[in-house]
Amino acid sequence: MAHDASDKIQELHNFGEFGGVNPSISDSSTYTFLSAKTMFDTFEGNTEGCYLYSRHSSPSNLYLGEALAALEGTETANVTASGMGAITAVILQLCDADEHIVSSRTIYGGTYAFMKNFLKKFRINTSFVDITSLKAVEEAITPKTKMIYCESVSNPLLEVADIKALADLAKKHNIPLVVDNTFSPLSIAPGKLGADVVIHSLTKFINGTSDCVAGVVCGTKEFCLALKDVNNGAGMLLGSTLDSLRAASILKNMRTLHIRMKKHSENALYLAQHFEKDGLRVVYPGLSSHSGHTLMKKQMTNEYGFGGILTIDVGSLEKANQLMELMQKKNLGYLAVSLGFYKTLFSAPGTSTSSEIPEEEQIEMGLSDGLIRFSIGLDNDIHRTYTLMKSSMVELGILDSDTVTV
Ligand code: PLP
Repeated sequence: MAHDASDKIQELHNFGEFGGVNPSISDSSTYTFLSAKTMFDTFEGNTEGCYLYSRHSSPSNLYLGEALAALEGTETANVTASGMGAITAVILQLCDADEHIVSSRTIYGGTYAFMKNFLKKFRINTSFVDITSLKAVEEAITPKTKMIYCESVSNPLLEVADIKALADLAKKHNIPLVVDNTFSPLSIAPGKLGADVVIHSLTKFINGTSDCVAGVVCGTKEFCLALKDVNNGAGMLLGSTLDSLRAASILKNMRTLHIRMKKHSENALYLAQHFEKDGLRVVYPGLSSHSGHTLMKKQMTNEYGFGGILTIDVGSLEKANQLMELMQKKNLGYLAVSLGFYKTLFSAPGTSTSSEIPEEEQIEMGLSDGLIRFSIGLDNDIHRTYTLMKSSMVELGILDSDTVTV
């Protein structure tokens, strides 16, 4: 088997100061210097291995960054206090006032709101396009465009972006391609397919324990250093710094990411295939009925599967709410936003994580009222989960009682 990203993460050795198998956690916001000259040089960014102040960098954050750079195959990575901390810093680093972004129209609601509303302050406009149409993307590019932005597998519609083709297009126009890979760690490596910057909300699969928010920007040394620049760096100056204690706990959780991703994907594929046979409207990139299925197969690392997220459409918000409440009552998962937890999480994106997107635009992009987004958990007996979910749907009249599943 190929030596892949998960092996590289496992191979990183940073022992603790007493020979501990995990690196020591840096418990300081500031660092002493024996000479004033070294302090000055560190401030200027010229001293390798010296730390000045933890908003700039800290040993624990650098260890986590190293693992994330190994995950994405980029030169380096800067960790941040949330996924939005990473996204906003990257955008503000790349775009000046009066410039322009071409973005996929199906993206996380917070990113959409930032681009559509917040960036008005700087007169930065975004053209939201169908990312699966390269023609639409290219037609939206203007001389003022400073980046193409997309999610590899989009939230919540699970559209698959053709990263290699988008990277070629971005290169042709001499602009960077920025990809949020939160939904598909290990499965897709956008950096290896040509993306210039790869972002994650670590809050989700990568941490996997739903106990903190965090993010990362993976890219070249030049870009990540620019983000940390004391005079102009959006990372340094906007101040979205991850705490060292959290960085250390996320790093420990990352050691099992490969096992978790395989199980999330295996369980999601099982449910998607069975729900589809039952006649439900299921969207999952692992189904051949999904419009991005062939593309996903082409750009993914097979062993990690098609990811842990699927959606079903049960016809109305009322039915969606009833089903989610019933499934929670049966302990099949939690009615909660977010993803990547050991337990299945479900929510109706139209009224939660995508509620920032106006209703007309939701309809236009195919985000219907009855849509439920599932982040499938690590259930050991997924057939049992399926049977109980199906009986909940029969109970609510979403499925007929005589539906047969092979
Ligand atoms: N990107 C995607 C695809 C997300 O789903 C989310 C959150 O749901 C974010 C970014 C934002 O991450 P965070 O909540 O860690 O700021």
